[in-house]
Amino acid sequence: MTTTDRKFIIFTWGCQMNEDDAEQIANILMSMGYSSTQNEEEADVAMLVTCSVREKPEEKAKSKLGILREIKQRNPRMIIGVCGCMAQREGEKLKKGRPYLDLVIGTASIWQIPNLIRQVEDTRKFKYALDLPETSADALNVPPRVERAGESLKSFVPVMYGCNNFCAYCVVPYVRGRERSRPLADVVGEVERLALNGRREITLLGQNVNSYGATLDEKVDFADLLRAVSAVNGIQRIRFTTSHPKDLSDRLIEAMRDLPNVCEHIHLAVQSGDDEILRRMNRRYTSSHFRERVAALRNAVPDIAITTDFLVGFPGETEQQFANTLALAEEIRLDAAFMFSYNVIPNTAAEKLDGQLTKKVKNERLGRLIEVQNRITCEINASHVGNIYEVLVEAVSSKDRTRVTGLTRQNKTVNFKGDASMIGKLVNVRTTEGHLYGYVGEMA
Ligand code: SF4
Repeated sequence: MTTTDRKFIIFTWGCQMNEDDAEQIANILMSMGYSSTQNEEEADVAMLVTCSVREKPEEKAKSKLGILREIKQRNPRMIIGVCGCMAQREGEKLKKGRPYLDLVIGTASIWQIPNLIRQVEDTRKFKYALDLPETSADALNVPPRVERAGESLKSFVPVMYGCNNFCAYCVVPYVRGRERSRPLADVVGEVERLALNGRREITLLGQNVNSYGATLDEKVDFADLLRAVSAVNGIQRIRFTTSHPKDLSDRLIEAMRDLPNVCEHIHLAVQSGDDEILRRMNRRYTSSHFRERVAALRNAVPDIAITTDFLVGFPGETEQQFANTLALAEEIRLDAAFMFSYNVIPNTAAEKLDGQLTKKVKNERLGRLIEVQNRITCEINASHVGNIYEVLVEAVSSKDRTRVTGLTRQNKTVNFKGDASMIGKLVNVRTTEGHLYGYVGEMA
């Protein structure tokens, strides 16, 4: 079999950083001559891009490994690798009890994949690469990137890696290392090449984009980066995620206000409406600061959509402290939220905190919050019926082939009559219905 006959499959869980890693891994494998398949039975290389932020994605990755083990019994030359946060967290221990596993590749090591695959092919021995930048001296060591192949309307562009914030519940600083920013010229160069390749929308990615530049010698911040990227010809929409409330500067809000291709959407994770819980989470802002930043955003960008994350049931959370979160949700009425109940993640500060709540209490609080936030989301979307939005058409609807779906600049889904010829186009759509997951509309 030649390399060109060989196929790979990638399974991905977790955040957009993992989606970008999966795309990088696909590009690396394609540059080695592999082609992509959706059928795991015919794959010569199977890579799992794993997530450790919650228990469930780790369980799913481990169960996928069990399925791949059976396939490997029929195809012993198949190479199975685990990448991402679980690989970094568990390291070579993942091999224990899994003789079929060939590779464990940490979050800062995916550029080593070609070499590692060749070593496995030559020796049929287990290999791993888990180095992680742990010090600020390592911080400039940003992994090399492989240019994207193929056509697509949208791309992620990482602007920084890792995180220095050490929120008490979060494993990211331990599995993605210390924060390190890519030089501004590197990011802009990548965006220019993507624009030439036909990309219309880019999302700048980082665990906390608002602290972009802190590790660079050049004196630049995220507002400077946004202005530089906004000037690239051909990019119609710029998004970014994720933003930390403590670092959301006036300069960034002004850039959002001034730059016409920066979309009117921000994801700003509040986590809790109670100051004592925020302190114990090590979030380093108060609920008043969050309220003030939301007001400043709405003041500067009147049609902005603001979404958030809520984490309920943090260790020691009292009924009153949870009620403060409910009250904040009711008061600030954000467009939508990802809502989770706290789960212990090994090796995090919150693992050792007293007052772990029962599953029953956490689920009950989560249910109450979901009810409140979903009602608010529906009310907000219903109040937009009759408005006209610019929509980037992304796909024909899978449920009804006479309709297409796309996103507004506010990152809300709209479903309306159309066909495949509209994909990639910006069209104006009048909303006719508002629902939890977005709008139904018609061409304006
Ligand atoms: S800011 Fe906090 S929650 Fe976000 S990645 Fe960093 S440590 Fe995790």
